[in-house]
Amino acid sequence: MKPKLAVLKFASCDGCQLQLLNAEDELLTLAQVVDFAYFPEARSRAERGPYDITLVEGSISTPEDARRIVKVREHSRYLVTIGACAVAGGIQALRNWADIDDDKLDNYPARKCILAPNTSTPISELFRVNFEVSGCPVDKHQLLGVIRSLLSGTRPALPSYSVCMECKGRGPACVVVARGEVCLGPVTRAGCGAICPSMSRGCYGCFGPCDDPNMSAFTALLRHLGLSSEEIVRQLRGINGYLRPLRETTDAIEAAKP
Ligand code: SF4
Ligand code: SF4
Repeated sequence: MKPKLAVLKFASCDGCQLQLLNAEDELLTLAQVVDFAYFPEARSRAERGPYDITLVEGSISTPEDARRIVKVREHSRYLVTIGACAVAGGIQALRNWADIDDDKLDNYPARKCILAPNTSTPISELFRVNFEVSGCPVDKHQLLGVIRSLLSGTRPALPSYSVCMECKGRGPACVVVARGEVCLGPVTRAGCGAICPSMSRGCYGCFGPCDDPNMSAFTALLRHLGLSSEEIVRQLRGINGYLRPLRETTDAIEAAKP
C-alpha cells in the first residue's frame, strides 16, 4: 500500500498548494509513489486519516482552526507546514500588533458571525511540527525534495544561509551597493534563487529569516541607507514579520522610541 499524503489549508491564499499542482512534470511520478488521500484543492475523493505525510498551508486564525489543527496533528505521522502563512503567521499576522475591535469590523454586514481572534498564529507555536518549508509561495523543487526525503526516511535539508550567498553565485550587481536600495537578502533564507536581486530589485524577505541572522548589523545598514525607525519596522514586518528574529527586532525598535 502506498503512503498516504494529505494537503490541507487554513487561513491562506492557496498559492502554496498551487505550487504542488504546478509541478506538472513531477506529479505523475509522485502519484505513483504516494496516495493523494486528502487534497480538496485537487480532487473530490477524500480518504480519512491517519496520513503518513500531511502538508499544511495557512495560519491559525479562528477558534475552529485551533480545534481542527490539533486533530490534524493527531492523524499525521509527519506534519509539514508549507509557506509563510503556516510557518510565520503570514501577512495576516500584522494584526498581532493591533486590536481587532468592533469598530474595525463595522464594514462587515454580519459581523456577529466573524470569529476572528486578535492573533494569527504560526503552527509551530502550538505544537512541534516535523518540518517547515518557508516561502511565499514555497519553491516547488524544495517542496518535492522534502516529500522525497520523508518517503525515503531521511531528514530533509534546506538552505540555512542567506540570499546573498545565492545572489553572489548568480552574479547580478548588488542593489544596496550599486543603487543604495533596501534589500533584505542579508537576513533572508536562501532558496528562491535570488530571483528579485537578479531582476534588479531588493529582496523583500518572502523566505523568512536565515539561521542566526545578524539583525543588529542589518538594522545599522538600514539606518546607514537613511531609513527611519518607522521605515525599518515597516520593512521587517512583512510576510514573515512575526518570526522571532524579525519580531524581536521590530519590538525593540518600537520600545526604544521616545
Ligand atoms: S505563504 Fe504566500 S503563497 Fe503561500 S498561502 Fe500564504 S500568502 Fe499564499
Ligand atoms: S542584492 Fe541583496 S541579496 Fe544580492 S548581495 Fe546585495 S544585499 Fe545580498
